[in-house]
Amino acid sequence: MTRKIRTRIAPSPTGFLHLGTARTALYSWAYARHFGGEFVLRIEDTDVARSTQDSVDQILESMRWLGLDYDEGPIYQMQRLDRYKEVLDHLIAQGKAYYCYSTPEELETTREAKRAKGEKTLYDGRWRPGTGKTLPMVPDGVLPVVRFCNPPDGDVTWDDLVKGPITISNREIDDLIIARTDGIPTYNFAVVVDDWDMQISHVFRGDEHINNTPWQINIFNALGAPLPQFGHCPIILGDDGQKLSKRRGAVSVTAYEEAGYLPEAMLNYLARLGWSHGDEELFGRDQLVAWFDGTHLNKSPAQWDPIKLLWVNAQYIKQADNKRLATLVAQQLVKLGITLEAHVVEVHLPQLCALLKDRCDTTIALAQWAAKFYGDVLPDAAELAQHVTDSVRPAIALLGEKLAVCSWDKVTIAAMIKEVLVVQGLKMPQLAMPVRVLVMGTAQTPSLDSVLEICGREKVIARLGKASNMTL
Ligand code: GLU
Repeated sequence: MTRKIRTRIAPSPTGFLHLGTARTALYSWAYARHFGGEFVLRIEDTDVARSTQDSVDQILESMRWLGLDYDEGPIYQMQRLDRYKEVLDHLIAQGKAYYCYSTPEELETTREAKRAKGEKTLYDGRWRPGTGKTLPMVPDGVLPVVRFCNPPDGDVTWDDLVKGPITISNREIDDLIIARTDGIPTYNFAVVVDDWDMQISHVFRGDEHINNTPWQINIFNALGAPLPQFGHCPIILGDDGQKLSKRRGAVSVTAYEEAGYLPEAMLNYLARLGWSHGDEELFGRDQLVAWFDGTHLNKSPAQWDPIKLLWVNAQYIKQADNKRLATLVAQQLVKLGITLEAHVVEVHLPQLCALLKDRCDTTIALAQWAAKFYGDVLPDAAELAQHVTDSVRPAIALLGEKLAVCSWDKVTIAAMIKEVLVVQGLKMPQLAMPVRVLVMGTAQTPSLDSVLEICGREKVIARLGKASNMTL
């Protein structure tokens, strides 16, 4: 019988949602959606000292932003302690797990001795029950941990969805601690009980977990639980070839939201980073779901490429609905100290976005342009000196006079500019450049008539007026 496809993402709330985890979440989500299965969000919060509500909130926000909707969850491990205890007791009763009273100091001494002899520093099995074996006396006042009876030999083999067949010898691994002295289960045990209870059929995760998988497979087998299929995705490297980390730039999903990226661009970029469908670079969520069947996942690490991400984002900004962009740009403007009234965001800002989005790769870049329209403009002194010369001042003044009284639309504005050029005997750039510098603070703008129209008569006249009382 084929199993129902159920995948999950299981972040630990000890920080923001890392881009690597977001990518794994995306693959897990797309896999479930492709096969009409289910996707579960589980919060692995058993590291009580390091887990925070703030991290949980950030993880949930990142999932929402990326549009990774889950069918179940968030399920919190700390709310499942009774269930772990039940499975633990069952394993102990069956002789598949046991209490270990070795203190950390004792363990360290043994490890030291082994290290000195050049041996592997695995647990020495002193508390592991065995036929005919006498265990040490239970010491007073020492709380035990619980260890799993790992098979002493043989191999653990699985066919990894990403890396292909992997074999690890049981001799390489020891009797893992599955519950700490306070009774809280460790990651490798809780993850198995959860994946079993939640009927997870496919586990995608980062390849830093490959060494944990043999233990988990052995625990699944000890429980008589069906094994999921595992797929370990390689790490993401920074542009310096090192593991992508905080020190080398933003690694959280929320940082990109704040930096003016669109979620569909991020989703597209993350999906492509470690997976491919032919040469396709730009594809939407539905397309990804249609294509993503767990094949064509890269075996080798992907390199984070901020320039490509910007390019992808620019493509999505170009296509984005102007009203939606306006809402996002308004939020970025607030950070620049400019708060717009609702009707401006509704009506005027979308027109600005339509005019400027072709030249912007983030909503921050769009907001910086919008700030020139809504905020103050401080033209660059060098540009002023270069373009707003005495010879062009009369033309600017004349244009100001004409624009003060003409009807306010692009076509009329263009006609006024032409009239001034004729009267003053100037060529277009000789007038257009200084007007751009005065009105927008830069000589590089979209078409002048459109810019002036959207900027509005009052602001244009005021900004052009500065040319006459400006000493250069
Ligand atoms: N909490 C683990 C992590 O964030 C989950 C690993 C797994 O998916 O099994 O790395």
